[in-house]
Amino acid sequence: MTKLKSLSRSGGRLEMIDVEVQLVPGLPVLEILGSPGPVVRESITRIKSAMSSQGFQWPRAQQVVVNLRPTGLRKDDRGVELAIAAGILWESGQVPRPDVSEICVYGDLELNGQVGLEDKRIHGMSVSGPRLLTAHEAQVYGCETWRVGSLLDLVSPTFDKGEDFVQPVAPEVRGDILITQEQALVVAVAALGEHSLLLAGPAGSGKTSCCDWIWRLLNPPGPDLWGQIQALHWDELAKPTWRPFVAPHHTSTLLSLVGGGANPGAGDVTRAHGGVLVMDEMLEWDPRVQEALREPLERGMIRVARAQHRHEYPCQFQMIATTNLCPCGAFVPSGPSRCRCATARVHRYLARLSGPIVDRFDLLVMTPKWLAKRNLRLGSVVDQIKAARKFEAEALGEQRSLPMARQSISEVSRRLIFVDAAARPSSNSRTAGVTFRKNGYRNLFKEWGYRPKNLSGM
Ligand SMILES: [Zn+2]
Repeated sequence: MTKLKSLSRSGGRLEMIDVEVQLVPGLPVLEILGSPGPVVRESITRIKSAMSSQGFQWPRAQQVVVNLRPTGLRKDDRGVELAIAAGILWESGQVPRPDVSEICVYGDLELNGQVGLEDKRIHGMSVSGPRLLTAHEAQVYGCETWRVGSLLDLVSPTFDKGEDFVQPVAPEVRGDILITQEQALVVAVAALGEHSLLLAGPAGSGKTSCCDWIWRLLNPPGPDLWGQIQALHWDELAKPTWRPFVAPHHTSTLLSLVGGGANPGAGDVTRAHGGVLVMDEMLEWDPRVQEALREPLERGMIRVARAQHRHEYPCQFQMIATTNLCPCGAFVPSGPSRCRCATARVHRYLARLSGPIVDRFDLLVMTPKWLAKRNLRLGSVVDQIKAARKFEAEALGEQRSLPMARQSISEVSRRLIFVDAAARPSSNSRTAGVTFRKNGYRNLFKEWGYRPKNLSGM
């Protein structure tokens, strides 16, 4: 019996599966066991045609039995075609099997025996463990790969040591920039916890810079997430070096944001997977577009209709939105302002900032206070974040998996993240302009487990 591995689409991912190929005396038919879907059942004809087109023999007077495992997983991915064909050719001795203990084979067969890739999801994947045998066009990272263009190439596949896996590199942060205490708090909490954030305030209060700093200071992505980011950006000329920063313009269409339609590409929400999606001027966006963000924000996945197919793409991003407090952008609620908007217009504008939009964010931050004196160095926030990560790594070790924003409150209550006292809001200013909306969470520091550093001692 020949054993090998392959991949099969399941939800939005490629899962590794086992493929066993055995020849038993009987009628020359191919039997596939282990929950093959209609696509895989159709493969039988393609495999037979591809083998015969390339001059290979169907094993004489032998029944080919293929078993796919785990049985509980439905397999409906054409990528197993190459795996089954290779298994038959190895098992029948028509092609020597590569001298490795484990090999993962993935590719589609055309009727003439050419090998292609219908599912592009393998691009950018880092396949750990076994070596990979796949189509020439596959772009895979971090593993040794054999590449074939047709079934005949199985005799002597092209060997590729694997492109160097690009490791994530955090972008530089200028430590000498001066910021306010409130800014320091928001940047530290949003970068550590990856909370979605709405910044509301007058132009010039530093909202855009704040988005940039949070993105630069995000947690380094784990290997799985980094592999997904690489895979989702495989078709871009410049490979990602850090988490994505996607900032669509407020005139963007619904399709460009969520994907689908005639253009088969994924939308901005998917390109932002694992990174930051900046929605500048949130109130200026078409309400239908704002509404379309509901599914991605709640599920971290988006269903996209395309031709007759429906695809699911991952889209777990940190949303940072900004908005002015009036149409001209100069309004400051308490204090002198250069705003020339009529009072009624300002009120109408602010009314749009309530309810459903605001409820999508963990944090709503009013930024007028950011116009105050800036007396903290951004570098001190960088140090706080490093210290908090170090603490968390030591306290939690391997348990640390999800950012705070994706944990349930019961998990969060067992975890603490320390924010330096310098960034602590004074007790009488409530939460320094940070207001909680989500699920009635009242107190950032209590409920989410953030603690001023000077209270540590544990
Ligand atoms: Zn105004």
